[in-house]
Amino acid sequence: MPRLHEVGEGEVLRRLIAARGPWSGVVVGPGDDAAVLAPSAGHQLVATVDAFVEGRHFVAGLGTPGDHGARLAAASLSDLAAMAARPRWALLSMGLSPDHDLAALLAFQAGVRDALAPFGAGIVGGNLSAVEGAEWFDLTLLGEAPAGQAWTRAGTRPGDWIAVTGHPGRAGAGLRVARQITGAAGAPEWETLLASWLRPTPRVTLALALAGSVGTRAAIDISDGLALDLSRLCEASGVGATLEHWPPDPLLERAAAALGTTHDALRFGPSDDYELILALSHDRLEDLGRAAAAHGVPVAFVGRVTGEPGRISVDGAPLGPSGFDHFRS
Ligand SMILES: [Mg+2]
Repeated sequence: MPRLHEVGEGEVLRRLIAARGPWSGVVVGPGDDAAVLAPSAGHQLVATVDAFVEGRHFVAGLGTPGDHGARLAAASLSDLAAMAARPRWALLSMGLSPDHDLAALLAFQAGVRDALAPFGAGIVGGNLSAVEGAEWFDLTLLGEAPAGQAWTRAGTRPGDWIAVTGHPGRAGAGLRVARQITGAAGAPEWETLLASWLRPTPRVTLALALAGSVGTRAAIDISDGLALDLSRLCEASGVGATLEHWPPDPLLERAAAALGTTHDALRFGPSDDYELILALSHDRLEDLGRAAAAHGVPVAFVGRVTGEPGRISVDGAPLGPSGFDHFRS
């Protein structure tokens, strides 16, 4: 396939738009100056944006363009899951080298499109720019929630339970294994860890199944690491947390041994897992367990909310916020 500079902006846009298809709730779609969208009656818009920059959020040669697109979509989908909002419309803005391969670009957009579609969202607009340095991809995702019912990070109180979905730490561990262990990419024993990073599953379906439940008092998604994101939830709610008796993850134990680190450094440290941390009242634990089982989502009840603001402990030992910091690391 040709490079972008060989076909020109107009043709690139035509090919991108043709591959997006029509979407519901779109009054005026691609081809005009802006999209006109029709939210459902009685709902509020919930908006999020995520940028992926070459060399930081995706690595050329690690994963396909489709994988990179799916991860970009997962980042925004996960934010809407953390707010219990239903994804609907996405705007995709991209800074691309004129040498970018058109087929690779279409594969990237297909990765975004195919990751959004199962959750009810489609790409309804976007923007293209040529760049000379690192390429970037930026996805704005709009969702909706019944008025007043979006979850937030604030609202949990001492005595509530803390639950996490999936296996936090695996995405970060998978990325480290792929970067640091020769031959790990493609090796069967690291396949599950690598897939956690390359193809995360945002927990939109579970969140929507729980949406409106008065038992979910606060939520956040894990996009920078469990310790950091839990500390953000605690800060917003003015509480602390104590985690106890959470069985180790065998895949993290194996990765820790291979990487020369500890299981807990991987579990609590920098990792964009796109899992959810939920704080809920004691009488709703069974509801969450049932909903998670019905949707095939692993869930662990890992601890309790405490009245000591800012203090987070794991089996009695203090846990610092050690997640990913975009400007420090
Ligand atoms: Mg988030």
